[in-house]
Amino acid sequence: MSKKLTGECLCGAVKFSVENHFKAFYQCHCKQCQKLTGSAFASNIFTEPDNIQWLAGKEKVTEYEHETREFSKSFCSVCGSAVPFINKTKTSLIVPAGSLNELPTMAPQANIFTSEEACWLKSGFKAESFSGFPK
Ligand SMILES: [Zn+2]
Ligand SMILES: [Zn+2]
Repeated sequence: MSKKLTGECLCGAVKFSVENHFKAFYQCHCKQCQKLTGSAFASNIFTEPDNIQWLAGKEKVTEYEHETREFSKSFCSVCGSAVPFINKTKTSLIVPAGSLNELPTMAPQANIFTSEEACWLKSGFKAESFSGFPK
């Protein structure tokens, strides 16, 4: 049996666990993921739709589904953090990697939709690094 990983939103209202058993891990750079995350790309881990146990706050999860395209997101209605959701075709549970508290054994396998990559992504990696706020 694989080890369980726990996850939660920033405010802690929503908590869940998943088996550390995943089928894919993609970093998606598409424009829609940029909008949904407010960042350069989405880090999404795919697993079986039934691989989730909600431990707290399931009733605080708000779901969004794009009217015409295959885009969904679930988030904590208190703090807005991304939490796991089942895709529109109901074939996968998608776990936002940043919602996990522990390291999954699977590393990202691919960067996808890089043709739509944020224009500031590469220059961002070249910027100076600080362990906290810049001095
Ligand atoms: Zn929250
Ligand atoms: Zn995307």
